[in-house]
Amino acid sequence: MDIIKILPKHVSNQIAAGEVIQRPASAVKEMLENSLDAGCTEIKLLIKNAGKKLIQVVDNGCGMSKSDVRKCFIRHATSKIENAEDLFNITSMGFRGEAMSSIAAISQVEINTKLTDQQTGTYLRIEGGKIEEVKESSTTDGTSIKVKNIFYNVPARRNFLKSDNVEMRHILEEFTRIALANPNIKMQLVNDNKELYHLPISNFKKRIINLFGNKKNESLVPISEKTSILELNGFIGKPETAKKTRGEQYFFVNGRFIKNHYLQHAVFKAFEDLIPTKYFPSQFINLKIDPKLIDINIHPTKHEIKFEDEKAIYSIMKSTIKRSLGMFNIVPSLDFSQENAFELDFKNIENTNFKQPTIKIDKNYNPFNHKKIDSVSSTKNNLDVKDNTLFDSDISDNNISIPFQISNQFIAISYKNGIKIIHQRRAHKRILFEYYTNSLKKGNGKSQHLLFPKSIELSLKEINLIGNLKKDLNSLGFIFKLKNQNMEIYAVPTECREENIKEIIEDILNQAQSDLEIEVNQTKKIAKSLAKSLAISNSKMLKTEEMSSLYNELLKCKVSNLCPNGKSITKNFKIDDLKKYF
Ligand code: ADP
Ligand code: MG
Repeated sequence: MDIIKILPKHVSNQIAAGEVIQRPASAVKEMLENSLDAGCTEIKLLIKNAGKKLIQVVDNGCGMSKSDVRKCFIRHATSKIENAEDLFNITSMGFRGEAMSSIAAISQVEINTKLTDQQTGTYLRIEGGKIEEVKESSTTDGTSIKVKNIFYNVPARRNFLKSDNVEMRHILEEFTRIALANPNIKMQLVNDNKELYHLPISNFKKRIINLFGNKKNESLVPISEKTSILELNGFIGKPETAKKTRGEQYFFVNGRFIKNHYLQHAVFKAFEDLIPTKYFPSQFINLKIDPKLIDINIHPTKHEIKFEDEKAIYSIMKSTIKRSLGMFNIVPSLDFSQENAFELDFKNIENTNFKQPTIKIDKNYNPFNHKKIDSVSSTKNNLDVKDNTLFDSDISDNNISIPFQISNQFIAISYKNGIKIIHQRRAHKRILFEYYTNSLKKGNGKSQHLLFPKSIELSLKEINLIGNLKKDLNSLGFIFKLKNQNMEIYAVPTECREENIKEIIEDILNQAQSDLEIEVNQTKKIAKSLAKSLAISNSKMLKTEEMSSLYNELLKCKVSNLCPNGKSITKNFKIDDLKKYF
């Protein structure tokens, strides 16, 4: 019996929508990009309820004919490319012809559009991918699209949307990216009837200031370079304005916001020794490159692209930024006379040895004037020292008392010369940390299978990250699969409680994202975050056996007096000390 069926259009569109439209902000991005491709000079974005109720984009672009309005909702319908070769010469933002069909599949859309040379326009209403109404309309030149009640027919998705605050932040981020990449377009953003941005047509620097405030004015250092393969321009923030959080790393390739860890590293490298570790410089960088030398078609949301020669671009970016930091007197004791713009012969690039510009950087220079920048590293050193001094010879098994608990928080044990107080949560954290570090090393973490697999929805960024951590997570006892944007978990380390799994994964992700520098020791971070999530609380009543076992396990630890964060676990009060109180 034949069992294979071709899925009906509305189902396949809904499946495709899962990839392109993850949240209101994705629809915002796609619609703004369509307005750009329509050659507009003005875009207005109206949002209600963080996009959950309404996303409206109004542009003054080319508009659509009556039959094109119908066609634009068919999947793979596009006016931007015609054949496969065009894929390697993309000059528009869109080209996959997926956004409009995806949006229409999962929301209620109303569109009003008019070609510039026509008297009247077209109104069309489509719900869940089904055209409900088409009529002539009197409207202005360009296109206005209302997307209402996104995911109204996909409750699983709608329920997974985050709070209005979070969703709005995503929308703002998409708006900011597009506004930065297109200072030549007037852009407005109205949120719940309140105007948040009114950005006039301007240049790149003014657009940055309009978006990020006047204070940016003094901190921006221009960068610029032109070679036969690319043109680089934009601004970097002075080192002293670097922030502890990521977020102002804007990198645009041919007008498209792009994430690229490798090239991002070139920027961090250029700032090396100028900013403390764990600080991130601001950057607003435009890269213009022949579209033939990049491949945009590797990701549905087009946030990632492939470059034909990343290494060359890396070198150029790094040295251009270094040169600017030097020229604008940011770096002391520079000899930038040797800094010449350099020209690359792209055809021979493989064989080219890039001459690194020789900037002399004063390694001791630190714009933050902190004595020692990395406080974490000193803690780390402490942790690596084996220190069991607290468990000295007089606390042998036979002369200690039965442990007792104080305020459900501390464990007290009296011994010949005094009393020892143990911070129960920190002690447990240390034990778990060493246990998980070991499991990670040996790959032998014990698993417990879940009765029902648990599914956690993650962002693309997070899915990538979890993908990278897969080996380590498996070693700990997590067994899972990644499907689109879901992490399907089948088994977890034996100590995990089912209701905490989501929190634990989120914690691991947060820790892992706290520093995305290449080659950081992720395993320690995972062990630390798992220990933090699973350690007993500061208010848990413990039985005597539990206290004894905790104490014995602590004794076995390589480091038994400091928790993984470097805080003390135990404190001794000697008899002589106690006597002083009396
Ligand atoms: P793509 O942008 O990849 O072509 P979309 O699904 O985003 O695919 O859009 C399909 C088509 O609809 C576009 O190619 C374009 O012709 C038309 N379109 C969408 N939005 C607009 C707009 N704001 N103005 C004019 N045409 C538009
Ligand atoms: Mg598009």
